[in-house]
Amino acid sequence: MSLLDQTNTTFRLEGKRVWVAGHNGLVGSALVRRLTEEGCAVLTVSRREVDLTRQSETERWIEYARPHVILMAAAKVGGIGANVAYPADFLYVNTMISMNVMKAAAANAVERLLWMGSSCIYPKHAPQPIDERALLTGPLEPTNEAYAIAKIASLKLAEAYAQQHGIPSICIMPTNVYGQNDNFDPELSHVIPGMIRRLHLAKTTRAPNVTLWGSGTPLREFLHADDLADACVFLVKNHAHLPIINIGSGQELSICELAHLVADIVGYKGSIVFNQEMPDGAPRKLLNSSRLSAMGWKPKVDLRSGIEDLYRRWQSSAQDAAERVIVELPAT
Ligand code: GDP
Repeated sequence: MSLLDQTNTTFRLEGKRVWVAGHNGLVGSALVRRLTEEGCAVLTVSRREVDLTRQSETERWIEYARPHVILMAAAKVGGIGANVAYPADFLYVNTMISMNVMKAAAANAVERLLWMGSSCIYPKHAPQPIDERALLTGPLEPTNEAYAIAKIASLKLAEAYAQQHGIPSICIMPTNVYGQNDNFDPELSHVIPGMIRRLHLAKTTRAPNVTLWGSGTPLREFLHADDLADACVFLVKNHAHLPIINIGSGQELSICELAHLVADIVGYKGSIVFNQEMPDGAPRKLLNSSRLSAMGWKPKVDLRSGIEDLYRRWQSSAQDAAERVIVELPAT
């Protein structure tokens, strides 16, 4: 039986060395938390020790660490603002990381490989909900084209390694992810932490209105990082090779509805204004996750409680503490 045929074989993580690349990030840290239930040794390495955009450093690390499993969550990521501001970084860094890790993994007989894509790899006007077969059937959304091209290149390299060398891998396409360790930078973050921050600051400064980006009409589906990590572990344990698989939650709402949900959670009572000068991005990107549900996996975290949890964590973390203290001083 070829390695590519070993699908649906149960793989035990217990006792394995599992490298979580990008362990400090939103998805990587959720993977590390989830793996504590599996009895495996979780390997991590900081960017200071190993720069994954450099081939020789990446090769030395993988030869030294000898992981049985690689869960690839290392990437340069960000919201619509970051994607528009830094397309060269998004294309270069993400392509280099994937190419270097994939080549080194192939040379080191890693047993399970999981690559992280994104729902933005699909065409801007793909029929909704987006099926895995929509890949490369039309032009991409311009605001995240650079990131999408890097992710498509990685997906195609994984496919080429399977075709040329019989190396199996799992390529997942998650929908918009949020959760613990999200980036709250006002200009670079994804929409949920961006809105939490703006609406919280509006509440604490008693601002009568708050301005959010775009028209408010785009639709987005959101998946909690803990659900994504659980889906990754489920797939790695049950499949050796999946060329492309969507991971969604089915929880979809408009940006305007999201703004009102976040306002309700943070307790902001003022009015919400949309600045149409700011980009909207894709009009809609709801994933068709029926292949994954047919395998028996489903998400657990509902959007409201996921955002409530994130808001609580952000408020109690040291992150941005100084700014929060300043804005919470009573107005004089
Ligand atoms: P996308 O899903 O790849 O487009 O990325 P984001 O997570 O950054 O979501 C962008 C969508 O949310 C766009 O329609 C924006 O116009 C809208 N949006 C509204 N307010 C904000 C905000 O404060 N930050 C961000 N990142 N997006 C916002």
